Amino acid sequence: MARSIGVLATHYIWVGIVEDNKLGSVRMYPEPGGPQIDLKSVPADEILARILDQINQLNRGEPIDSVGAGFPGIVRGGIIEDSPNLGQLKGFPIKERLASVLKADGIDAPVAVVNDADALAAGIMATHGRLEKLIRVWYLGDGIGFGRYPCSDGVCEGGHSVVTLDPKERFCGCGGLGHLEGIMGNRAMRLRFLDMEPEEVFAAARHGDTRAIDFVKLWHRALAAATATNVHMDGPGRFYLAGPNTDFVDLGLVNQYLQEMVKMSPLQGSFFEIVHTSHDLALIGAAVSSRAK
Ligand SMILES: [Zn+2]
Repeated sequence: MARSIGVLATHYIWVGIVEDNKLGSVRMYPEPGGPQIDLKSVPADEILARILDQINQLNRGEPIDSVGAGFPGIVRGGIIEDSPNLGQLKGFPIKERLASVLKADGIDAPVAVVNDADALAAGIMATHGRLEKLIRVWYLGDGIGFGRYPCSDGVCEGGHSVVTLDPKERFCGCGGLGHLEGIMGNRAMRLRFLDMEPEEVFAAARHGDTRAIDFVKLWHRALAAATATNVHMDGPGRFYLAGPNTDFVDLGLVNQYLQEMVKMSPLQGSFFEIVHTSHDLALIGAAVSSRAK
């Protein structure tokens, strides 16, 4: 039975033991209930040291077959080329450095590092989607992630898809105009509404506030638009939705918008499905990605 470690870096560092495709014990840093630490302010080498601590506390010296980690941003060839949400990792040779930190501590196992949303897609494949050739998933949270399995060699930053030509749409954290994340991401929603949290915007829409209602339509339309673009490039199919902001999704509305945007008959039949427990799935996917094929 293959025993791997899955690592996921988001707001927290999550570490879990994955045997076959099942997640066992999990630890997180910073620990729940402990002092608040913003990972954005933790230097890259310190992040690696914390990952090693968590692995050691979980694993207690048992043999490990492989270690797989999911990080936000553009991860190619073991290097984090850019990561707007963990800026200190930009250019960091994460795979080599993580492997050497582990090896120095006696864990001599293959290491893989993938994009966090791609890890989620791999986790969905490992647990839900054995019959599908292609898994696509949107992660809806502070940022908007797009994951794909099998992972292409491309960049796959679908959250930065351009969904509007309006030059006033400038709220994306990457600075690009008209981006999906600039409409759907939490930071962008706070910048747009200034004195309201995202939950309050969606609540105001339910209570009849016109500006909030218009925005909620835009939010769903943006997701449908980025998905329709993907359908026109990669074909129709199921699109999984994951992350905390799936609470805001009206599946009927987003499916309706998608159908309005995709009209060619061979491309019809796409639909959305919400998956819960996205952290668990991403840990499983990161671990599975590290195993020799
Ligand atoms: Zn962007």
